[in-house]
Amino acid sequence: MATEMELKELIREALRKYSAYEPADQPQEQGWIKLNTNENPYPPIPEILNDIKSAVNQKIRLYPDPTSFELRKEILNVLLRDNDTLTNRNSVFIGSGSDEIFDVIFKVFIDPNDEVVMFFPSYGLYKAIATLYNAKINEIQLKEDFSIPDSAYTAKGKLMVINSPNNPNGKSFGNATILKICGSFPGIVIVDEAYGDFSTQTSLPLLKKAKNLIIIRSFSKGFSLASLRIGFALADADIIKEMNRVKLPYNTNYLGQVAAQSCIKHRIKVFEQNKKIIEERVKLTEELSRFDGISVLPSDANFIFVKFEDETKTLKFVWELKEMKVLVRHFSKPGLYNYIRVTIGTEEDNNEFLNAFRTIANKYL
Ligand code: PMP
Repeated sequence: MATEMELKELIREALRKYSAYEPADQPQEQGWIKLNTNENPYPPIPEILNDIKSAVNQKIRLYPDPTSFELRKEILNVLLRDNDTLTNRNSVFIGSGSDEIFDVIFKVFIDPNDEVVMFFPSYGLYKAIATLYNAKINEIQLKEDFSIPDSAYTAKGKLMVINSPNNPNGKSFGNATILKICGSFPGIVIVDEAYGDFSTQTSLPLLKKAKNLIIIRSFSKGFSLASLRIGFALADADIIKEMNRVKLPYNTNYLGQVAAQSCIKHRIKVFEQNKKIIEERVKLTEELSRFDGISVLPSDANFIFVKFEDETKTLKFVWELKEMKVLVRHFSKPGLYNYIRVTIGTEEDNNEFLNAFRTIANKYL
């Protein structure tokens, strides 16, 4: 058995400088108002829950379909037809949440020291995975208003990752910008649309124009399936073929596949339910903007990024909200100390959050 010293020498070199992605608090007990991880505040609608329940026991004994054939068919025939996109079922890859899809893409494309371009701020997992694969990371700082700077158009590398709407600020990047980047970048451009179901914008129609584009979408947020772990990637069939060659054989589970198909079937009702989240986003934005020293960035997602004029007050709010059993997200990163990210909850959750915020504001603002 290796001693601790020997173990350090045995693990991969990339892990020695690796700081793992740290998921936010996931308290397992009841009683929290959880506005910290951008989950959908509503459970799946009853029709979808029923489909999941009736799938339990049926095929749990068996391995799931490794190709997620039925789900890919539904994504193509229904979801993408809605968006006037691809028609080839070999252009869809199903993953265990979008997180796994990033890992698969890096596995296909990244040798040690290959360059990967990403933006700051954005979703922290990109950097963690790039580090794991020993990539050379070019992290481009977004502009003051969180738009993409000109330097992105001359960047080189194998992969570029764009998150639209971007976590944590919530704004989508326009398709003109994304198409221009696809034209100038020599490698593959990944557009992570995990929050795309809350935005009026999508880059899906660009798939027809850009061969080097991969779009990733998720069932976790818009369809309330975070725990069943289903995401999908859309790209040219040649790219998808390579991704299928490296994925683990049974990467998604049967219940997740069934649930996602049911989500597609009942999408109109789900999108109707999500409208409430958008309404609440508008309400929270208005209410919070009334406080002195607080401003809220425009968002196309199911969360808002709230800015404190006085940085020293930010953590006081985070901690005191937590004492009041309200969880929000703070990022201890330069340039982000004076922000909190607040997921849009149910109307009741949001009102409780606002009450708690008001109480703390009376002390500090
Ligand atoms: N992309 C972004 C930008 C996210 O914020 C998240 C959620 N943490 C994910 C992807 C992961 O989503 P999934 O549940 O599909 O793995």
